[in-house]
Amino acid sequence: MGTTLVESKPLHVVVVGAGLAGIAIAHGLRKHGISYRLVDRETTPRDRNWGITLSWALPLLESLLPPALVAQLQACQPDTSLSVASAGEQGVLIRDGGTGAIKIRMSYPGGVRRMQIQKTKRVLSAGLHLEYGKKLVSLSYDDSPEGVTAHFADGTTETGSVVVGADGGASQVRRCLLGEEAAAQEVLPYAFMNFPFSLPAEKARWLDGVMNPSVDVAPHPKAMYMGLFLLDKPDLDRPETWVFYVLVTWPIADEDDEVNPDGTRLHRLRAHMDGWADPYKSVVEWLADDVAIGKDQLRIWHPKEWDNRCGRVTLTGDAAHSMTFHRGQGGNLAIKDADEFVKRMVDVKEGRLSLKAAMDEYDRGVVARGEEVEISKQQAAAFHDYENFDNSPVFKMGIKPAGSRS
Ligand SMILES: Cc1cc2nc3c(=O)[nH]c(=O)nc-3n(C[C@H](O)[C@H](O)[C@H](O)COP(=O)(O)OP(=O)(O)OC[C@H]3O[C@@H](n4cnc5c(N)ncnc54)[C@H](O)[C@@H]3O)c2cc1C
Repeated sequence: MGTTLVESKPLHVVVVGAGLAGIAIAHGLRKHGISYRLVDRETTPRDRNWGITLSWALPLLESLLPPALVAQLQACQPDTSLSVASAGEQGVLIRDGGTGAIKIRMSYPGGVRRMQIQKTKRVLSAGLHLEYGKKLVSLSYDDSPEGVTAHFADGTTETGSVVVGADGGASQVRRCLLGEEAAAQEVLPYAFMNFPFSLPAEKARWLDGVMNPSVDVAPHPKAMYMGLFLLDKPDLDRPETWVFYVLVTWPIADEDDEVNPDGTRLHRLRAHMDGWADPYKSVVEWLADDVAIGKDQLRIWHPKEWDNRCGRVTLTGDAAHSMTFHRGQGGNLAIKDADEFVKRMVDVKEGRLSLKAAMDEYDRGVVARGEEVEISKQQAAAFHDYENFDNSPVFKMGIKPAGSRS
């Protein structure tokens, strides 16, 4: 073994952010006996919740998790009775928003798993050494090329061989690495609403019957996108307990769209619904007048190369490449990043690579995978360009990864 491969201090990874990427990394490190500390700024779970479709990255997630948690993946689903095979067969359904007719159904024969983000975080954090209430504020570096210290808002610190920023789209680790300006997200010029709702039993049963169980989305000729999804079925036998959610976007057209003031959102959404077909039309009509619709924006970040400080800091998941949901790739890429990061850490542990070489290799991959940010941005634009929709990335690539990244 060459001397460059030998680090003098034991390998210890500080994982900042316990979302999908951070949890997957922590499990992978644990599986390989690599020391880690996983922290998250949250003290109570966020009220934001949504579902993701894990497709090509599902086998990678399963390989990172211990078998006992793989067996629990069904409990992470919005509908715990939906099988992976059936979800894959029914796949992604894209309708014409004006007629409700199916434009395309993309099946995924290998199966897909819908995962509700809050359930996933709760179920998959089992067995991990995870500390909440640790908000990363800054990083500092030893004088020697080894060692990095994460500083938290509560005044505590954690020193390790490497800090991996798994802290989401507005990543503080990214700001530490690149500075505020280069790390700032781009806000896309669309009105965006993402909110949950429930319905009386009969209507909920109807919607559940007509809606595609994984993804049911539509472009409308009036330059508008809408999707209907299931968020939770707390009691499979009582449809009135079921929770659905709407995702809707349209190009910002006036000051109200720009300012997006509280109290106006349902009214503005309903004003946009003329010409929509079912199931979208009826759902918006049936929403309770006091349904809560929070303020939201579509934010993205294109990866730029960063100086990994001799292999001591890197980024992963949305922190490394945040994209819109219009091609359903962010969560899959977060798992791919996690898998690659863990593999490189194993290379370091087993003496095949120095930390610097391992992180250089990982960083090249994560930046390359970030090409999806632009592809998803094009897909977002295509959902608002009905005439050209059939030339969009989902028509050409489905929900497969860009290039040969899987
Ligand atoms: C509506 C919607 C639908 C989507 N659908 C799909 C889909 O179908 N398929 C798909 O693949 N992807 C989808 N995505 C994308 C997917 O959800 C994300 O890419 C994925 O969850 C990112 O995981 P992450 O771990 O990188 O970040 P996050 O899940 O954002 O986790 C970041 C964590 O870091 C913590 N944190 C933040 N700042 C700090 C700090 N300073 N200190 C400590 N901790 C911090 C946060 O509390 C959080 O727990 C969708 C996203 C949305 C919003």
